[in-house]
Amino acid sequence: MSLLTVRALNAGYGPIQILRGVDLDVAVGGVTAVLGANGAGKTTLLRALCAMIERDGEIRFDGARIDRVRTEDLVRIGIAHVPEGRGTFANLTTEENLRLGAYTRHDRDGIARDLERMYRHFPRLQQRRAQQAGTLSGGEQQMLALGRALMLRPKLMVLDEPSFGLAPLAVKEVYSILERINGEEGVSILVVEQYAAIALDLADHVCLLETGRVVMSGSPRDLRRDESIRRAYLGY
Ligand code: ATP
Repeated sequence: MSLLTVRALNAGYGPIQILRGVDLDVAVGGVTAVLGANGAGKTTLLRALCAMIERDGEIRFDGARIDRVRTEDLVRIGIAHVPEGRGTFANLTTEENLRLGAYTRHDRDGIARDLERMYRHFPRLQQRRAQQAGTLSGGEQQMLALGRALMLRPKLMVLDEPSFGLAPLAVKEVYSILERINGEEGVSILVVEQYAAIALDLADHVCLLETGRVVMSGSPRDLRRDESIRRAYLGY
């Protein structure tokens, strides 16, 4: 069953059209990875989904049309967007950032329990709970961004290049946490990545974006089977 369904999505910036007729699905409990080179339109796709730019097409979430839902209301229906650059508040502490993630909720006990849950997922954040977010390492900031998004108790996490700027070990760590969040908590994930290999290990569905169009959509196995795609995106 599909949690997120996107059909014929067009979007761009003023007169410049970037996305052309994009179709995309994320299954309930599934992970869809969108791969593409620099400038393919990956960030634009997430911005369009999250109503941050003009778009047209059909977007359904959990059975309902959400084309008219505003960015700030998406969290209330269960979509958490972790943008490029992560969007944490540099001058606030780790814990203040996590608490801000729960701003739509009023269940104090539930929030306290979720804070402890986040510290179990991310022990490193617990050690740094009183540290200013701006002084965390890149990997720790990415974990904080994930933790903050999870405090919303989303059904779907939308992630823009979680590997960006991280050393290979930190990338592995972030992805193993994503695997746990998906496997243990059943949170569905839409992830946009340039780092194709690691995203393919997590995903059950993959779309290739080239100059704003989906040029291939299938399982990671389908993608690996295609020699020219494998060479271009996986380098072997
Ligand atoms: P990268 O991996 O480099 O971040 P991407 O696949 O995420 O690339 P986008 O950031 O979506 O690509 O950019 C797609 C195209 O849209 C690019 O040609 C870019 O120059 C253009 N673009 C992005 N933001 C704007 C903007 N605010 N105004 C005009 N054009 C833009």
